[in-house]
Amino acid sequence: MTAAPLFQRIALIGFGLIGGSIARAARARGLAGEIVVTARSAKTRARVTELGIADRVVETNAEATDGADLVILCIPVGACGAVAQEIAPHLKPGAIVSDVGSVKGAIVRDMAPHLPASIHFVPAHPVAGTEHSGPDSGFAELFINRWCILTPPEGTDTAAVDRLRAFWTAIGARVETMTPEHHDLVLAITSHLPHLIAYTIVGTADELGEVTSSEVMKFSAGGFRDFTRIAASDPTMWRDVFLSNKDAVLEMLGTFNEDLSKLTRAMRRGDGEALFEHFTRTRAIRRGIVEIGQDSAAPDFGRLQPNAAKKP
Ligand code: NAP
Repeated sequence: MTAAPLFQRIALIGFGLIGGSIARAARARGLAGEIVVTARSAKTRARVTELGIADRVVETNAEATDGADLVILCIPVGACGAVAQEIAPHLKPGAIVSDVGSVKGAIVRDMAPHLPASIHFVPAHPVAGTEHSGPDSGFAELFINRWCILTPPEGTDTAAVDRLRAFWTAIGARVETMTPEHHDLVLAITSHLPHLIAYTIVGTADELGEVTSSEVMKFSAGGFRDFTRIAASDPTMWRDVFLSNKDAVLEMLGTFNEDLSKLTRAMRRGDGEALFEHFTRTRAIRRGIVEIGQDSAAPDFGRLQPNAAKKP
């Protein structure tokens, strides 16, 4: 289904999972008169040209920005400040500048000081992703029924916020607006802490002397395997997330450690009732997530097994 273009020219700076998915979705829906893409490396730019998803692939961030009505930075959080500084002189007055970073306080802190008053700055975070990265990993359906959180600084033009909301809605997302601080606190518990736990567990298993790594791989069909999927997420992206949302993650980690101590105590004391009550509560949370359509109730999260494709 296509709609009327919402923007004459959209510039995407960075073309990995998120930039590539935005380009594919915007093109499928006809949301841009022209999609201009750039990426840091010549290799990625060449791949975007081969894929044929962009109308133009240019070499520099400045070239991509020139004349664009919507500029979206689809790069790691830690790189956004320098890129904002670089593109600032090239921004068209009235343009909307946005990003997709998983942390919002640091984005506002690093980007806002460089941006001219003549543009509208509307940071965004699509809460959608996979553990894959790079120009081939994106797909047009990534944002369907997923949340996109906008965190416009106070005083941002409401018409600009509405235009960006319309864009994300048109590529399938459900949009909510909140402050950057609130976003960072919510995401610390729903996304950042779970990733930290996954990185820890997989690292711990790897370091256990008495369990060889081949056994860890062989018997990984239990809960461990799902942790390995999360722990395979992009190292650059997640290094930047933990460095730039340190305060909120550390606060959540404090609460997590207290709760872990409670469960440890219940186990040590043989308090089955406390364990049972806790697991019943968490099971209800999982059911709630499925009920509001944020995941599938199918076995194995609806994922195909590697051998299933080979069956007749
Ligand atoms: P990705 O697939 O690794 O792609 C990253 C892109 O950024 C690539 O085009 C890369 O260029 C470019 N890049 C990397 N370092 C750069 C730098 N220092 N300066 C300029 N460009 C740089 O990453 P992604 O998953 O799309 O993530 C992009 C952003 O989306 C991140 O801010 C992340 O927090 C956010 N996000 C990710 C997810 C997720 O699940 N992955 C979900 C929501 C939001 P080259 O290809 O040329 O190296």
